Amino acid sequence: MNEPDFITLTIGKQKNIALIAHDSKKHELISWCEEHKEELKKHFLCGTGTTARMITDQTGLPVKGYNSGPLGGDQQIGGKIVEGKIDFVVFFSDPLAAQPHDPDVKALLRIAQVYDIPIANNRATADFMITSSFMNESYDHKIINFKKNIKDRANTL
Ligand code: PGA
Repeated sequence: MNEPDFITLTIGKQKNIALIAHDSKKHELISWCEEHKEELKKHFLCGTGTTARMITDQTGLPVKGYNSGPLGGDQQIGGKIVEGKIDFVVFFSDPLAAQPHDPDVKALLRIAQVYDIPIANNRATADFMITSSFMNESYDHKIINFKKNIKDRANTL
């Protein structure tokens, strides 16, 4: 039997949202969270360590914290995307400053793309995403069939 190249996964009505901001963007993300607090309250929130702590301290929203970004937090969030445990990302990155963990940032953007995860890297995109009608419903999307991918590769390489 021919296995499909893609499988359908569902982003639930209640989303698992990761929040990340580089240092110069943290206050902008906190004010964005405050602005969209009522919507964000309906979902599960997590983030890189410092960002998560500052959002909780300053808005009262519960945000599960992973490690700080430069200490592997972005990689942890990428890992959760692969496991299907994070399905929505707001990442206010700084386009004007070099980051020590630039490879990790790139890796997170890449893995979000592979797994077709909505990801906002500026406020306008985040505004459009958070006010989308999909926020209040589940959303089916097509993901590469990773089991078939391994089988095909093992058989052909
Ligand atoms: P931080 O990490 O929230 O711990 O500051 C963010 C980042 O730089 O990726």
